[in-house]
Amino acid sequence: MPSYRLNNLAVTIDREGSGSYAKASYPIRFGKYSEIRTPNYEFHLNLKGEIKFIRGLGMNWRHPGELLKRTDGNDWVYYSLGTVGGNIKGLLGEYYLPCLPYMSNSIWEFNPFTDMNIMQALGAWAQTYATLAETPLDGLPQPLREFVGLVISRHENALHAEAQALRDIGGERISVLPPDTRHVDYEVIPLMVADGCRYHCDFCCVKSPHRFQARPWENILGQLEQLKAFYGRNLSSYKALFLGNHDALAAGGELVCDGAAQAVEALGLVDAQVFLFASADSLLRVEDGFFERISQIAGRTYINLGLESVDQATLSGLGKPLTSAKVREAFQKMLEINRQYPNIEVTANFLLGERFSPEHYDSVSELLAGAPGSPSHKGCVYLSPLLESTRKPELLPTFRDIQSQSRLPAFIYLIQRL
Ligand code: SF4
Repeated sequence: MPSYRLNNLAVTIDREGSGSYAKASYPIRFGKYSEIRTPNYEFHLNLKGEIKFIRGLGMNWRHPGELLKRTDGNDWVYYSLGTVGGNIKGLLGEYYLPCLPYMSNSIWEFNPFTDMNIMQALGAWAQTYATLAETPLDGLPQPLREFVGLVISRHENALHAEAQALRDIGGERISVLPPDTRHVDYEVIPLMVADGCRYHCDFCCVKSPHRFQARPWENILGQLEQLKAFYGRNLSSYKALFLGNHDALAAGGELVCDGAAQAVEALGLVDAQVFLFASADSLLRVEDGFFERISQIAGRTYINLGLESVDQATLSGLGKPLTSAKVREAFQKMLEINRQYPNIEVTANFLLGERFSPEHYDSVSELLAGAPGSPSHKGCVYLSPLLESTRKPELLPTFRDIQSQSRLPAFIYLIQRL
C-alpha cells in the first residue's frame, strides 16, 4: 500500500478496505481502492482509477459520515445521515438516505445538488483531476506515475462512455434494482437472463415495453465474457450479482441457476450474493429443486416479489393481473422458503399512495400482523410510495402504522437505478 505526496495531495494506492459489507453510521469501504486526500476532501477511486467517493473533511461539510458516491451508471448520489430527522435505520434499514439526482419515489425532498458545499465538493474533484492532468509524470516513482496516468485517463467523457458500455453489455439501463441490494450498497454486477415482464401493470413507472423473453444461453455467456473484461481487476471489489431484469425467475429456475453458477465461476465471485426479482406467478411455479440448487451456488440469494396489495379492488385498479388469493399464496410461500433455507431470503413489496383506499391498507396490515415473527429478521417487506404521489411526506404516518403492526421487519422502498 504505497503512499506518496504530490503537491498538496496525499496519495495512497491500493488500500485494502473491509472484506465484507457492514452497516454503520460512518463510511466503511468494501474492497480495494486508492485514496487522494487534500486538506479539505478525501477522494476514493476504484482499481480502474475512476472516482467513486468524495467526502468533505472541513467544518463546512454537513456531517463527517456523509459522502458523495458515483455509481457504475455514472450518477452522483449523496448519502445523507440527517435529512429525515432521526431514525433513518428504522425507516430504511440502513443508516443512510441515498439522495438521488434523478426522479424517484423518495418520501424526502432534500436536493443535495442545490447545496453549495456539496457542489463545491464536486468542483474540488474537478480541480484535483486538473492538477493531476497538469503534473509532469517524468521523475515520479513508477507506481505513482502509473496511478496518475490511470486516473487522468478516466476523465468525465471516459466515465460517461464506461457507463454506456455497461448498459450496452446488458442491452438496456437497469431502471430499478431490487431493494435488497441495499445490503451491498447497490454495488452489483448486472447479468440479464430475461427481458420484459409478464404483467405490464398500469401503475408501474419502471416497466419495460418488451414482452417477456428469457435470454438464450449464448447471450448470457457473451455478457459474462464482456462483463469480465469490463470490470477487469476491479472485479475483486464486487461480491454481488443482479440477475435481471424485472422477473428473472420467470426465465425458469434452471436458467437462473445455470446463469448464477456460470457467473460466479467466470467472474470469480467469492461467497456471492445473488439478487433477483420474481413475480407471484414465477415464485409459485418455479421447479422443484430450484431452492436447493441456488442455495448451493450463492452465499446468499435475495428474491424480491412485487405483490403491491392484498385487496382485490386495489389490484384491479392498479392493472396488476393478480388475484388477492394468489398474493396470499405467494406470501405464504415466501414465509415457507425463508423458514426452510437459511441462505435464501424472499422479500415482498406493497404500495403506499394517496390514492389507496382504507381496504388496501387494512388488508396489508392484517396480512403482516398475521405473519409468524421472524427471529432471524429474514424476509422483510418494503412499502413503496407510488411515484405519482404528490404529498409523499404525508405517507409516513401510514407507513409507521403498518410497520408497527407488522410481525416482519418493514422498510420504505426507494427506487434506484444502475
Ligand atoms: S410492477 Fe413489476 S410486474 Fe408490474 S409492470 Fe412493473 S416490473 Fe412488471
